[in-house]
Amino acid sequence: MKAIAIFPKTHEVKLIDHEEPKITTPTQVKLRMLEVGVCGTDKKITSFQFGTPPAGSEYLVIGHESLGEVVEVGPEVRDIKPGDLAVMVVRHPCPHEYCRACRMGHQDFCFTGDFTELGIKEAHGFMTEFVVAEERHMNVVPRELRDVGVLTEPLTVAEKAMAQIWQIQQRLPWIDPHTSAQMRGKGLKAMVLGAGPVGLLGTMVFVASGFETYVYSRSKVPNPKADLVEEIGGKYISNETTSVEQLAEQVGNIDLAFEAAGASKVAFDVMRVLGTNAIFAFAGVPDLKAPIKVDTDLLIRDHVLKNQVVFGSVNADTAAFEAAIRDLAVFKQRWPQVLRSLITGYYPIEQAPQLLLGSAGGIKNVVTL
Ligand SMILES: [Zn+2]
Ligand SMILES: [Zn+2]
Repeated sequence: MKAIAIFPKTHEVKLIDHEEPKITTPTQVKLRMLEVGVCGTDKKITSFQFGTPPAGSEYLVIGHESLGEVVEVGPEVRDIKPGDLAVMVVRHPCPHEYCRACRMGHQDFCFTGDFTELGIKEAHGFMTEFVVAEERHMNVVPRELRDVGVLTEPLTVAEKAMAQIWQIQQRLPWIDPHTSAQMRGKGLKAMVLGAGPVGLLGTMVFVASGFETYVYSRSKVPNPKADLVEEIGGKYISNETTSVEQLAEQVGNIDLAFEAAGASKVAFDVMRVLGTNAIFAFAGVPDLKAPIKVDTDLLIRDHVLKNQVVFGSVNADTAAFEAAIRDLAVFKQRWPQVLRSLITGYYPIEQAPQLLLGSAGGIKNVVTL
């Protein structure tokens, strides 16, 4: 069957013939892949910054943002049936007994580093025709979400961050832990850095959580992403025309910052104007570039004197996948046009190498199978 693979030794990215997988345990499910999203991680893999083939293979089948349709299930599969749509989790647990994170099903917090990530690290991914995986690593997606289900995985990045933010927020003595999901950001201001797919999906998460939400990104207004932000109910501000000092003056106390662009300079600039009791969440992965100057005294002073929390968030647990699927249905009702327009291009698998190696514009590009 067809697959898109990278060959780290020869630095090739190409369409290959890959053996079709078979169900080998009673709890496995076979999926026909429908769509696979392309993101910055894939670009890093196809430019050989990372990406590791499984042991014994000279290539890695890439793709981790999936949407598939179940074609076959093992005899002990209970909750998934042929015809269902499903999205697969990306990270699988490490084998070590002492890894409490993995043993509890929280491999997103694996501390041994021996986890695998499908399409990224030591396990083949989803940019291929069929995939077989254990039922417990799949999440069923309602049929109504067929057109946007491929956005589940990028949305989990924001969902996990939001879950962490909510846990951290509860350190404040007056926060009621039973506050409904829609009210958690009430009276607070969120600043999203970056207007890519994760930034825009994050904007939806924060607006839906009640935050007054701003997006601080490069392109000057007017631009199509700024229009989407406004349609979601956020405010778009360009960092080309508004300095962080002006931003702080305009917005007031920034209670939450969510970095989704991997742009460290802007991130540390915004950190200088972060508000009291605020949280700064990093979710983007910057390319390694030359070091930049940062006023560390000022930043630490503020972290201490303003009770700030700065944290990073990677990958997602099952709860984040479930939240993403739930929220996609909410977003589809609330912003049907905007949600659809996040997917800006569909490419047949034969064109995937050009898509991965080129500089296709748009927001989220998807490979169809
Ligand atoms: Zn991704
Ligand atoms: Zn582990």
